[in-house]
Amino acid sequence: MEFSHIQGLDEEFVLHTYSRFKVAFTHGENATLYDTQNRDYIDFGSGIGVVSVGHNNPKLTQAITKQAAKLLHTSNLYHIQNQAALAHNLITLYRDNAPLPMRTFFANSGAEANECAIKIARKYGKQRNAYKIITLDSSFHGRTITSLKATAQEKMHEHFGPFPDGFVYAKDVSDIYNLIDSSTCAVLLELVQGEGGVCPLDKTQIQALASHLKQKQILLMIDEVQSGIYRCGEIFASKVYGISPEVITTAKGLGGGVPIGAVLTTLTDIFAPSDHGSTFGGNALSCAAGLCVLEILSQMHENGTLKETISYFDTKLDSLVAAFPQIFSHKVGLGLMCGIHTQNPNLLPNIVESALNQGVLVLKSGKGVLRLLPPLSINKDEIDLGFSRLESALKTL
Ligand SMILES: *Cc1c(COP(=O)(O)O)cnc(C)c1O
Repeated sequence: MEFSHIQGLDEEFVLHTYSRFKVAFTHGENATLYDTQNRDYIDFGSGIGVVSVGHNNPKLTQAITKQAAKLLHTSNLYHIQNQAALAHNLITLYRDNAPLPMRTFFANSGAEANECAIKIARKYGKQRNAYKIITLDSSFHGRTITSLKATAQEKMHEHFGPFPDGFVYAKDVSDIYNLIDSSTCAVLLELVQGEGGVCPLDKTQIQALASHLKQKQILLMIDEVQSGIYRCGEIFASKVYGISPEVITTAKGLGGGVPIGAVLTTLTDIFAPSDHGSTFGGNALSCAAGLCVLEILSQMHENGTLKETISYFDTKLDSLVAAFPQIFSHKVGLGLMCGIHTQNPNLLPNIVESALNQGVLVLKSGKGVLRLLPPLSINKDEIDLGFSRLESALKTL
């Protein structure tokens, strides 16, 4: 289909929830995408951190097609082999050999995973009438009514009230202590805010908060929808921080492009049958994808290729910041969740547009930060080409 035809149908028949770039992609190969005119692009965005093992990954394609030829879906009324195996693998990879019991719930998206986390917190606090959940300024937790209210960005709430009660917004980590009272059941936060500027929270501060909350019997719930599944160098950023939160939510990178969300919790008996559920969550197809993605990424983690890629990408970032001091001030981020602070946030849309024109896809984040989330499987040639195109784009500004 010609691009103009796609665009016409899209504008007439699809709700305008995104102001889209004028391009549509037809196929891809690892970190390279091709558009309707067969122009190639280096993908430093991964469909917002989703395409963790690259486009058209042959192993993932095979895992999905093999599963599709057997069974797609049966419902959670029955045992599901892939779901049981994926829950086991997620938890085993996360806690290494620690004997910490955990269980998993599978959903279809990040917002849904967070909804489940919020229900866990509410049920946990019910007996002592604790229902308040503290979240952080500039956070992002999703677009459903409740996860939107958990998102501490008042401008996003404008048209959609009334919202469920019980969300309290802290200005920063130290402000959380001021907001805790007897009705607090949980703190929900991202260790690296994907939409809020890609700046990792301070490790010592987070460890102190974690032990304070444990002592107060308040749940620590980490939203790893973007930071999880090896994006930050470990299966979860929580591991980099050396904390053991009661709840971890994840989604984006887990299915490598197949929709899936997951909640891991140490509160293994929080739910009884019918407390929570999902028609699609954890079906045979999405869990086949999750199993394959985890296998690929855990191997890359183990054999050192992920670490190598992170360090190579990081060196390129340093050179880019150094080469354009009039555009950038400094880099932020963790692992392959990268950001660069721009000197002039108003320039950010131009940078993204100009990068697209030069054949490299990059993302915006809040606070004037340019965000880069390449596939974790990106190779050196793709990194080199992406950065050289990004340089060309910056020179046109
Ligand atoms: C993307 C994102 C979400 C929402 O995920 P959806 O799959 O779009 O519902 C929630 N939290 C964080 C940190 C995210 O990056």
